[in-house]
Amino acid sequence: MSKKILILGGGYGGLLAALTARQHLSASEAQITLVNRFPTHQIITELHRLAGGTIGEKAVSLPLEKLLKGKSINLVIDTVTEIKPDDKKVLGASGTTYTYDALVVALGSETAFFGIPGLQEHSFVLKSVNDANRIRAHVEAELDAYKKTGDKAHATFVVGGGGLTGVELVGEFADKMPELCRAKGIDFNDISLYVVEAAPSILPVFPPELVQRAVESLSKRGVEFITGVAITERTPTTVSLKDGRTIETHTLVWTGGVQGHPAVANSGLEVNRGRATVTETLQSTSHPDVFLAGDCAVVFPAGSERPYPPTAQLAWQMGELVGYNLSAYFKGGKMEAFEPVFSGTLGSLGRKDAIGTIGANQIRLKGLPATLMKEASNIRYLSHINGLFTLAY
Ligand code: NAD
Repeated sequence: MSKKILILGGGYGGLLAALTARQHLSASEAQITLVNRFPTHQIITELHRLAGGTIGEKAVSLPLEKLLKGKSINLVIDTVTEIKPDDKKVLGASGTTYTYDALVVALGSETAFFGIPGLQEHSFVLKSVNDANRIRAHVEAELDAYKKTGDKAHATFVVGGGGLTGVELVGEFADKMPELCRAKGIDFNDISLYVVEAAPSILPVFPPELVQRAVESLSKRGVEFITGVAITERTPTTVSLKDGRTIETHTLVWTGGVQGHPAVANSGLEVNRGRATVTETLQSTSHPDVFLAGDCAVVFPAGSERPYPPTAQLAWQMGELVGYNLSAYFKGGKMEAFEPVFSGTLGSLGRKDAIGTIGANQIRLKGLPATLMKEASNIRYLSHINGLFTLAY
């Protein structure tokens, strides 16, 4: 009898799980339903470029209907509100109750605000196409307001958190701002662009030599780094720092970290700090009929207490393994253990500069080779999901 596979989330993990499961299970062996809150698969690794205005929305927002065409996968647009693994049910905001024989949870992560007063209410985040569009429109509106009022708070832009999300975003701002200022008749020297990082240095994932390169490259383009100082409070017009300083600004983009998805944290699945714990075959440690892919799961390398980072490349690989393991689960074959391959880490520093470490030997790249590698890795992903045809830069 045909089995019901329900996949929650159409990001890297969920999409790859759906496509891979379908490769191994025919339509008569399994019905596959993918539930996503948006009708699009969003390339969140490129959202900084949309927020900065370097690319258009179509480059990062691929219609799921097109990506799933001809695959006999049902697409449902709904927001998952509750997962009830003991009842084998999932509830959606539309009022629909979904049932399953096997569930894949791939809902990603959310921005963590760490309880910092005012932060959630008065900052922008960068987790979706809508978020990126909001930032882009807001930056333009602020420059217009500065032109009109001369109030420096409208010409001051703060990125909170110097991880890869924050640094990639400020690189786009640094490149775009002079252009925008010219177009609006504003002196670029009036603009302040800050990155505030609580840790002693930005980008701890990179070796010091590459961090230095990032700081120099961005400083030359007007970015000011405040490191070793945490953001402690946000009001609509101020950012307070732990050392007592206050920055007056209408723009704080908060990229200070991610946390598990609340629907997973509250589901009754076994979790570790809100992210579902998994076996080596990526099944929930408490519910073997639930498979996990991407940031909403926490995976520890054998013998280590430090989990793998929540990255797109891991979500992609987890999704594919889950797709394969679902077929083994239903057909009685042997499931495979998750053994991720790390191709490296690449961080853009704007349109023409980037840094990266490649492969197991951590070969270091900077400048054009890193920029090209970053572009190539995006194209490789898009071609893998057959998404290039939907692009219109
Ligand atoms: P992150 O957790 O990597 O970085 C957040 C930064 O914010 C940290 O450096 C932290 O010290 C800082 N921070 C926290 N609280 C603060 C405070 N109160 N004030 C100031 N700074 C504060 O988050 P991210 O950058 O969103 O990245 C999340 C994951 O996604 C990571 O694993 C990252 O490697 C990955 N990622 C990868 C890429 C890429 O490969 N190009 C791009 C973006 C994100």
